[in-house]
Amino acid sequence: MYGKIKEHLKQELNAISEAGLFKAERIITSSQSAEIQLEDGKRVLNFCANNYLGLSDHPQLVEAAKEALDTHGYGMSSVRFICGCQDMHKTLEAKIAEYFGCEDTILYAACFDANGGLFEPLLTAEDAIISDSLNHASIIDGVRLCKAQRYRYNNADMEDLEQQLITAQEQRFRIIVTDGVFSMDGNVPPVDQICALAEKYDALVMVDECHSAGVVGETGRGVTELFNIRGKVDIITGTLGKAFGGAIGGFTTGRKEIIEMLRQRSRPYLFSNSLPPAVVGAGIRMFDMMKETSELQERLHKNTAFFTKQMLAAGFDIKPTQSAICAVMLYDAKLSQVFAAKLLEEGIYVIGFYFPVVPKDQARIRVQLSAAHKQEHLDKAVAAFIKVGKDLNVI
Ligand SMILES: *Cc1c(COP(=O)(O)O)cnc(C)c1O
Repeated sequence: MYGKIKEHLKQELNAISEAGLFKAERIITSSQSAEIQLEDGKRVLNFCANNYLGLSDHPQLVEAAKEALDTHGYGMSSVRFICGCQDMHKTLEAKIAEYFGCEDTILYAACFDANGGLFEPLLTAEDAIISDSLNHASIIDGVRLCKAQRYRYNNADMEDLEQQLITAQEQRFRIIVTDGVFSMDGNVPPVDQICALAEKYDALVMVDECHSAGVVGETGRGVTELFNIRGKVDIITGTLGKAFGGAIGGFTTGRKEIIEMLRQRSRPYLFSNSLPPAVVGAGIRMFDMMKETSELQERLHKNTAFFTKQMLAAGFDIKPTQSAICAVMLYDAKLSQVFAAKLLEEGIYVIGFYFPVVPKDQARIRVQLSAAHKQEHLDKAVAAFIKVGKDLNVI
């Protein structure tokens, strides 16, 4: 039975390899951290994790997860509305809403599900979704699952957004959809201007804060803190899988009626398992920690500022960043791969990205800073970039 498609898949896989697009997995044998151990025993500094606050192996979160295992067990064996909702799930939802200054929150297994299950319950063919051209794959999939009219505007381009809003006046309801930080460039869209346009053209605003939550804004409250528009964005989606501990879990937080409707109709919520207690318990502890202090954000912002300043001074071409993502532009795909491999030899683990992940001739190395990086880590990374940059005639 398997014969025919097997040959087909083998050919396709070969084509992927030959195009140099095959994604191999690098095995890590330590916990996720600023310094990690690879399979061959080599220890390297990690500059490619979404571990922005260094919480992935934080002792307090490990302890909270263990406690939750003891008090609330291992698994839920149910979706939320049957018998998969513990007291802890409600507590975590309340804490997320408070963190973002929103009315209510609904948890998902991942933000991919939060975005996948967001649009279809709220909008019909009578309505319009106006989406940034660089939005995350999960938003694109969520939009595909919904019958609303689709409009696309150029990345963070307010003139184009306004044009689309004008055209979309034909529809009943409109929603503007954007990432809070665009993951390949590190830029933040002007969410204050987006909200002003939404007001003018009668639209809702949705922001996916996966790369901005915990990171952007003085205390990490995300784009609404950065632009001083707390409570103005109607819908925020986010993940527990990046800055917030890095385990798993997604959420949608926002207006009360919207969240209530998602609990009734959002398919990934209705038909997929509840988050396990260990993840929920650690999540609660994490938001408690965030309430006590923003020292991790301070360190992250300091680290990012230091790194970008040093790299600019060294002569590298860096995309302007408003997040913890620093795109080091190399333009050439092959160069980006050679550069990353040489950095690994120097003990710095980063990834080079090229088409189709980024536009053609826009290859780059994406550096992700963390509050867990110590000064010596940053110094070592900058020195390695300079050494390899000179070796390869980039600077
Ligand atoms: C990572 C990411 C997601 C997916 O989050 P998961 O919780 O890992 O599913 C969604 N949107 C954006 C913008 C992301 O960066």
